[in-house]
Amino acid sequence: MKKKQFKAESKRLMDLMINSIYTHKEIFLREIISNASDAVDKLAYRALTDEGVGLGREDFEILVKVDEAARTITVSDNGIGMDKESLEQNLGTIAKSGSYQFKQETEATDEAEVDIIGQFGVGFYSAFMVADKVTVITRAYGTDEAWRWESEGVEGYTMEPAHRDAPGTDVIMSLKTDGEEEDYSQYLRPHTLSQLIRKYSDYIRYPIKMEMESRRMKEKPEDAGEDYQPEYETIREIKTINSMVPLWQRPRSQVTPEEYHSFYREKFMDWEEPLVVSHIAAEGNLEYKALVYVPSHAPMDYYTADYKHGLQLYSSGVMIMERCEALLPDYFGFVRGVVDSPDVSLNISREMLQHDRQLKVIAGNLEKKIKNELVRLMKDEREKYEKFWEAFGIQLKYSVMGGYGANKDKLSDLLLFWSSHENKLTSLAEYRERLPESQQFVYYVVADSVERAASLPQAERVLKAGFEVLYLTAEEDEFLIQTLGELEGKRFLSVSSEEALPVTEEEKAKVEQAQQEHKAVLDFVKDTLGDKVSAVRISKILQSGAVCLVADGPVSIEMEQYFKKINAPMPMTANRVLELNAASSVFAALRRAYESDRDKAAQYAELLYNQALLIADLPLENPVRYTELVCSLMQ
Ligand code: ADP
Repeated sequence: MKKKQFKAESKRLMDLMINSIYTHKEIFLREIISNASDAVDKLAYRALTDEGVGLGREDFEILVKVDEAARTITVSDNGIGMDKESLEQNLGTIAKSGSYQFKQETEATDEAEVDIIGQFGVGFYSAFMVADKVTVITRAYGTDEAWRWESEGVEGYTMEPAHRDAPGTDVIMSLKTDGEEEDYSQYLRPHTLSQLIRKYSDYIRYPIKMEMESRRMKEKPEDAGEDYQPEYETIREIKTINSMVPLWQRPRSQVTPEEYHSFYREKFMDWEEPLVVSHIAAEGNLEYKALVYVPSHAPMDYYTADYKHGLQLYSSGVMIMERCEALLPDYFGFVRGVVDSPDVSLNISREMLQHDRQLKVIAGNLEKKIKNELVRLMKDEREKYEKFWEAFGIQLKYSVMGGYGANKDKLSDLLLFWSSHENKLTSLAEYRERLPESQQFVYYVVADSVERAASLPQAERVLKAGFEVLYLTAEEDEFLIQTLGELEGKRFLSVSSEEALPVTEEEKAKVEQAQQEHKAVLDFVKDTLGDKVSAVRISKILQSGAVCLVADGPVSIEMEQYFKKINAPMPMTANRVLELNAASSVFAALRRAYESDRDKAAQYAELLYNQALLIADLPLENPVRYTELVCSLMQ
């Protein structure tokens, strides 16, 4: 029979499996059983609406058979099966899900392979870790013909018509011969297999059956005498190995943390432990069980349009929907998990699900629960929360800003900002708690790094006065703060604002006097700079610095830059004001130049303006000109 070739990626993956030195080869069984369970799921779902299936929920099963003499393990299911075309598609090409992700990951580096096998579901091909030949006999539901697919490795596979009494699939694995370090024969022992089934596939919702040997005491014969010794016999019987009850249906007290984690790992293909596990059992009007997780990192595609959020929805153990969006608000899209409710109708369509009243109630409860869990994490396990913040903070921030701030009240207490208080992240509630009644504002400074923020002249003054300042270092932060508007009656205020520190009458008078005194110089600087700035004035806020740029009016310079960067349809421009420190020696030099040499004074004005741009982290309009000016000073 002519051998067909595998597609290139399949070949590579299979090659990897065949030569695998991975120590947990045992996971092959989990993979094959999980495929069988998926196939059964599909037919069980079909049976809900199609009487022709002729099987009730209790009829579905997965059977594991061992033939020691032939060295084979067979996993059979009475699921949906495959027709010729899908058999070729599915086993001749690499499937999109688990295996595909695996393939992408391994392309980067070969050394990472061994680890990765443990991290992802590697699917059907994992059988080749323990078998040198795999035979699949399958018959699709709704057809009469069965097919036999067989492969001994990368060379290819054969396909021919076969016979199977009923729809379903048998996967027959012929085990490799034992090597010096490899004991494949262990998988022929029912005891080992049943342990593996319990370890990896315990929550499969269909019975996984296997013929097991057990010893039992023979019945005592009626005529047994006084000195009768009990006799034993070995019997073989088909037993259900897995406990089947899905993890979420079990009482919380009977599930170990390790079980929660391994369920998560396998179901959501994430090798890192989740940050939050929440197991909910609701009773009363609306009955449901839910098991939800907050991952510790964002999946690779999380911030792309490809990511689909939602929870898996079951009705009494039958999966209805892989990702039910209606169960989660967008802003908690990172949550993974399952919801199982007998009250949700099985035959409901997807569109109707979105409007289902019961689902809405469940979603509302879950949202509260998730929020509470996150608040708890922030309070009690700060390090974990900061990890969460690193992964999903940006999602929360954009959710606060979106929809004109519609969700800000729900989410604001989950936000973190860098603060001058102990130089670490703080929540707004924590800032509020420390805030003395006499303090009018919640101060912030915008800069591209914490270091810069702390050293900005505008911030210096407020910090020196002993106030706590939030350092807004992400570009969206200021817009976020503007969306929040206030914190329980205290307005957010930029340290650059004129209002930032109350100026005493005396100080005001002093600045006004200086303004008058230096009017000619200030006018000269304004004339020299032209439209670049809207005004030039003596600063009330500068402490040790000589110069800075501030914005008059509602739009700050940082906001202007942010809108520019995101290509806002209606860009906002800040009203730039150049402020000079009358007490600085540089100002004295400017003044002297103004009196003796106007050309020089004009150069100084330009220099100061450029320096103000640099301090504000704005691009210089003409860097060459600036360096020329600096060089001329050195000559
Ligand atoms: P994955 O399960 O990650 O999609 P696999 O390589 O394990 O990838 O399987 C490829 C595909 O082969 C499956 O998606 C499924 O369509 C099909 N398949 C595998 N095993 C069975 C089975 N026992 N019954 C029906 N279809 C199966």
